[in-house]
Amino acid sequence: MGKDNVFFLEVIEWFDETGRELVHRIPEKGSGEIKFGAQLVVRESQAGVLFYKGKACDAFGPGRHTLTTANIPVLTKILAMPWGTTSPLRAEVYLANMKVFPNLKWGTREPVAFKDSELGLVRLRAHGVFNIQVVQPVLFINSLVGTMGKYTTQEIEEYLKRVIVSRFNDHLGENLDSLFNLPGRYDELSEGLQRRLRDDYSRFGLSLKHLYITSITPPTEVQRAIDDKSRLAVIRDLDRLVKMKAAMAMEKASESTGGAGTGLGMGLGFMMPAMFAETFRPRGRTGGGASAAPQKITCPDCKNPIPKDAKFCPHCGHQQLVFDQCVNCGKNLPPNAKFCPKCGHPADERPVPKMCPNCKAENLPGSAFCNQCGEKLG
Ligand SMILES: [Zn+2]
Ligand SMILES: [Zn+2]
Ligand SMILES: [Zn+2]
Repeated sequence: MGKDNVFFLEVIEWFDETGRELVHRIPEKGSGEIKFGAQLVVRESQAGVLFYKGKACDAFGPGRHTLTTANIPVLTKILAMPWGTTSPLRAEVYLANMKVFPNLKWGTREPVAFKDSELGLVRLRAHGVFNIQVVQPVLFINSLVGTMGKYTTQEIEEYLKRVIVSRFNDHLGENLDSLFNLPGRYDELSEGLQRRLRDDYSRFGLSLKHLYITSITPPTEVQRAIDDKSRLAVIRDLDRLVKMKAAMAMEKASESTGGAGTGLGMGLGFMMPAMFAETFRPRGRTGGGASAAPQKITCPDCKNPIPKDAKFCPHCGHQQLVFDQCVNCGKNLPPNAKFCPKCGHPADERPVPKMCPNCKAENLPGSAFCNQCGEKLG
């Protein structure tokens, strides 16, 4: 198939047989010519997003839509696109899967550098699981497909995982001084990381439902040192216990307890218990389109009930469908914005990767610690 293959689109639809595709582009390759009056079929738990000149410009909820200028106001009003009955529109359609994607796995591909206050530079591997859901399909396509140039589900997932690893590294760097203090802190670290990533993911139009760290693995020799140190601590505790008992025994002449096992609460290790398994069990097959009645949601701004697929609140005009967000302050931007109305930042600026001054490695935008060498980034 040649690169400039053009596909004439009359009926646009997609059924994901695998159930694993976050997003699907139509046509898959090349460019599409959408006939005036073409049919867009959007299935339950999908959103159809029209992509024109490198920008996602409208979203369609479940149902069959006849594509004309009249029902794509953004095209006509804002982008001033004349779409006649004779000439097709050169555009693509992305169909986003809006269901919850459970049990996705993340992990370090290369170990990340962690500066340990006692052990020095340690290279760690970490793994975990997470659940996501697309909540703002246009923003999702604009930020990941338009801005970051990730086109397939695989590329998008790869990128999302890179974001997790990078933030994991930052979070550990800021919240843990030494691996000696790691046992028992998994829950807290998972929660903190999840909070941090929720914010990041919302910028991609995604809701992060859950995120867990299941393991943090230092190199074997470091693990051994940690084990030895905890063993030493236990021995010291036992020693103290024995001495205390001896002292008590002297006081209370004859009483004997034989509880040598007290204080042996060790063996926390570095694996997190399977407590999250419950959270990740698929919850039946009803999730999402359970009721057939037209769904109402609440406007986050004025709290009035509004139709689920409303793009703007009919009561207060609050923008429900997010087209784009300011990379600087996160404000929702209208489709034709040149500058952010809140902070004045240029609207089409891309987030810039952070170059490490120490090892010159490229880190994700907004990183606090270098993944490569553990150096704190300014
Ligand atoms: Zn409102
Ligand atoms: Zn701004
Ligand atoms: Zn570095």
